[in-house]
Amino acid sequence: MTRTTPPRPLDVEALFPELARHRGTTTRLHPRPGKPAVTDSSVGGPLLWPADEAWPVCTEPHDRSTGYRTADVRAARRDRGARQERRRLRDLPDDHPVPLIALAQLYRRDVPDLRPGPDGADLLQLFACPFDAHGDTGHGMSVHVHWRRSAAVAEAETVDPQPEPEVVGWPGYVPEPCVLHPEQVVTYPFAGCLPEELEERIDAWEEELEEEAESRTVVKPWTDLGPDGDYGDEIPEVPGYQYDLSIPPGWRAGGYASWHLTDPYPMDCRTCGTPTELLLTVDSREWDGTVSWRPVEDDGLPAYPHASPTEVVVGRWGQLNVFSCAADPAHPHRWSIQ
Ligand SMILES: [Zn+2]
Ligand SMILES: [Zn+2]
Repeated sequence: MTRTTPPRPLDVEALFPELARHRGTTTRLHPRPGKPAVTDSSVGGPLLWPADEAWPVCTEPHDRSTGYRTADVRAARRDRGARQERRRLRDLPDDHPVPLIALAQLYRRDVPDLRPGPDGADLLQLFACPFDAHGDTGHGMSVHVHWRRSAAVAEAETVDPQPEPEVVGWPGYVPEPCVLHPEQVVTYPFAGCLPEELEERIDAWEEELEEEAESRTVVKPWTDLGPDGDYGDEIPEVPGYQYDLSIPPGWRAGGYASWHLTDPYPMDCRTCGTPTELLLTVDSREWDGTVSWRPVEDDGLPAYPHASPTEVVVGRWGQLNVFSCAADPAHPHRWSIQ
């Protein structure tokens, strides 16, 4: 089944014609539970990875003995009563090589907005260490991007079973196998990345809309309190630039990064100084709160569990944006958590 993004609630270019200059595209991946093969683009599926090639590992010093057993995480998802608890499960030295978790693989043939890899590589394979224990803070993610030429790997010679860590620091690192339904949609930059004058006009327009909506607020009398404790004033929903009109939620490739948590900061290549471009977004939810991006095929489905099909959770239900150098895709990638 394909997944189709509904039309935007209003035509933002009609309101702000100069946005046309900043119009871009991004490809929503629409992951949904399934049984992907090594020859498919997937989240949490088997990778096209040669059996005789070393699987990437994390050797950065940090505790890798305390966490959740990967098998327990899966069992708890199948059976909501199954035990899943954080505890010390192993006695491993702090630099013991931990197999990285395979989060996703994307073939360029399947994903229109996926940026090119180095030297004609057409298959992006994304990994993460399953512990939030890296970087300056000691609590950061460690993300690993691998590009390969898919034609150079024989399907019959791929690693099986695929290595995975026995213990993960956080259940949200364990992806459910999902097939993808890529869909290219129009996107606009994060408001804070637009020219200042345009950003200010968008802000003013949003404030006006919100004030107008508040004036239409229905104040519920206390006698309307429902049996489920659902009460409060009904403020009409208004479409906003950030959440409805510019950047779609969910896993996607290419387009613009959102900076709603940190505000924008420069994301230049650390090797050559060229500004990077968004390669891929890993998101904890496909849609939620504002449902304007919910595919029409999912109409009426409740957010739980349908908005989080991959079960991957980044930070506090946030997103991971991975960037690649615009001048040379072989240069090391960067990322930000939002
Ligand atoms: Zn690590
Ligand atoms: Zn570079």
